[in-house]
Order: sequence, then structure tokens, then C-alpha cells
Amino acid sequence: MLKFRSIALMAGVALLGTACGGPEASETSAPTMSWEEFQANAYQDEEGKFIIDGDLAFDSKEELKAFFDENIATETGSSEGGLAVYYLSGRDVKWTATQARNLTYCVSSSSFGSRYSTVVSAMNSATAAWEGTANVNFVHSTTYDGSCTASQAGVLFDVRQTSTTSYVARAFFPNSARSGRNILISTSAFGGGGSWSLTGVLRHELGHVLGLRHEHTRSTASGCYEDANWRALTSYDRASVMHYPQCNGTQTGDLVLTSLDRTGARALYP
Ligand SMILES: [Zn+2]
Repeated sequence: MLKFRSIALMAGVALLGTACGGPEASETSAPTMSWEEFQANAYQDEEGKFIIDGDLAFDSKEELKAFFDENIATETGSSEGGLAVYYLSGRDVKWTATQARNLTYCVSSSSFGSRYSTVVSAMNSATAAWEGTANVNFVHSTTYDGSCTASQAGVLFDVRQTSTTSYVARAFFPNSARSGRNILISTSAFGGGGSWSLTGVLRHELGHVLGLRHEHTRSTASGCYEDANWRALTSYDRASVMHYPQCNGTQTGDLVLTSLDRTGARALYP
């Protein structure tokens, strides 16, 4: 449940060949859809951000349109047979080596209230999972926790609570503007339901923050194909922390980094 609302469903390919769950289908051809259809299916959350693929935010309709133009309207097809990085116009969407070593964030003490320390702890654990395998370093700038908003310029991104029920959490890609660089955690994420811990959910969201796409977009057999704008870092991995289990995935427990996830993250940030 990071949330299941994918472009695949919008694009109408969700019902194709999901029966036997073969592994990757390379050379997928992105289905065409109109801007009107695409726009109608994007969800606008209470922050005014446009959400697609379940947990990815875009600042404005202009950004959403730019994404549509690059990913949906034109088909670039970089696909090839676990981990995949967002790939646009011939290059990876990732942080520079210097920035990757200083990914600063704040955790909103006012929005989380009594859950504040739980979130701080989960963020520490989730960031450690990526830091332990790739050359990245997340820095919790506690100085800004008291004024941790989307316009806080003292950090790269903010972590806040939201009461939406449309997703458990959502994040952003490295090419987002500051106002869209937020990890929003729904109150529903604290319910203790299912096999996903808050830390597990954050491991997945932090993957997006590093530039990683949903692993299930690599397979039309997942029923959750999104688009072809990604570059493979490893072979297809149905157990990846970036693969929704409900999209023909094999991860039945908490969302954890697999060995292929670690290999891919190191390849992206050596
Ligand atoms: Zn996601």
C-alpha cells in the first residue's frame, strides 16, 4: 500500500497477460494516451501536488505536462532487462556525487506531534540502509525541525505528515523543485497494519529520492507498467524494495533492500 494507482491502469494495459507472471518483458512499447486522459487520472493531493504512479509528486500542472511530454507522449524506450534509475533525455536523473553525500532533510515536529520521535528513528534506520550500500549520506538537520515546510530553504527536502488516505507515503525525484521535494507520510502509515513497517515504507520512498523508479515498470507482466523512461542498473528483481508486491512481486514481508538493490545502488552512486 504505498498506494496502488498506476499509470498502467490509466493506460489500460493492466489487464494484459498478468496470468503467469513471467519475468521481464523488455522492449515494451509504451501505450499512447492523450494529455487529457493522463491529466484526468492524476490525483491532486491536499498540498496541491499532482500524484502519479501511486506515490510520486509533481509541483504543478506544468511539471506534470513536462513529464507527460517526455514519458508518455513520446516513447523513448530505454528498456532492457532489479533496479532501474529514472532516465530522461539520455541521462540519469540522480544527484551529483557531491550532493549525494549531503542529502539534508528536516522532520516536522509540529506536524508529527507525538509521532515525531518515531519518524526520526524510522528515517535514521531507512537512510542507513541506503548509506550502508551506496555512496550517499543523508543528514537530519534538526535545526529546521521547528519550521520544516516545503519552503524551508535550509534543507534539500522536508518530511511531514499528511492526513490523506490516498497513499501511505509519497516522495519525489532528484529533478523536483524545492517545493516538491517532500516526503509526506500519511497518518495511516502509523497503524501498524500489514507487513510493512514505517521504516520499510521509507526505504522505498528514499529509493525514489535517490532517483530510482518502480521496479515493476520494467515488466508488462507485472500489470503495473508505467513508462519506458528508466535505465536498468541490474537484472529485473521482483523482490526489489522498489517493486510493489501487489504487482506480481515476490516480496511478502517488509520492504527491504535485496542484494540486487544493493548492487544497483552502488552502481548508481559508486
Ligand atoms: Zn513508489
